[in-house]
Amino acid sequence: MDYSKYIKNVPDFPVEGIQFKDITPLIGNGKAFKACIDEFSDFAREKKATKIVGPDARGFIVGAPVAYALELPFIPIRKPGKLPRDTFDYDYDLEYGSNSLSMHKDAIEQGDRVIITDDLLATGGTLEATIKLVEEAGGQVVGLTFIIELLELKGRERVGKYPIKVLLKY
Ligand code: AMP
Repeated sequence: MDYSKYIKNVPDFPVEGIQFKDITPLIGNGKAFKACIDEFSDFAREKKATKIVGPDARGFIVGAPVAYALELPFIPIRKPGKLPRDTFDYDYDLEYGSNSLSMHKDAIEQGDRVIITDDLLATGGTLEATIKLVEEAGGQVVGLTFIIELLELKGRERVGKYPIKVLLKY
């Protein structure tokens, strides 16, 4: 599957200098979306994942269908103030701006084998925050999946020791 034809590059969005990779044509194509989820699911199965974790909001789009396909729990990582019970929280910098993420304290148990999935790996800030939350809860990160990796931003270097599955590199 050539996923690249389903990614639209939008220059200077949301701020000048950013080449925004729009994945909506990919998830807007049933065959391409299914192929992407199938690849992520195969990887998660290989890694013997017990939970799928996805950051707000595009991590939900790719993570929930993988969890459904493998009959595994999906754990949402959310922006502050959205989760109703006790949370672990982590602050980090983005390619543009900064952010904070939260996870329910009881979402991950000691010994859980976790796959973290999101649409795009840029600076790796979101990913690093998500890894920290999972590990703080006692989970073991067994793999990472992304539709797109922006090589120039070297996000992978920030989190190098984990197996990564990426469909497209720019
Ligand atoms: P980062 O924390 O820098 O790895 O970026 C995390 C999130 O920001 C990604 O999961 C994307 O949803 C979004 N993002 C960052 N840079 C871009 C970009 N150039 N195009 C589209 N989305 C982006």
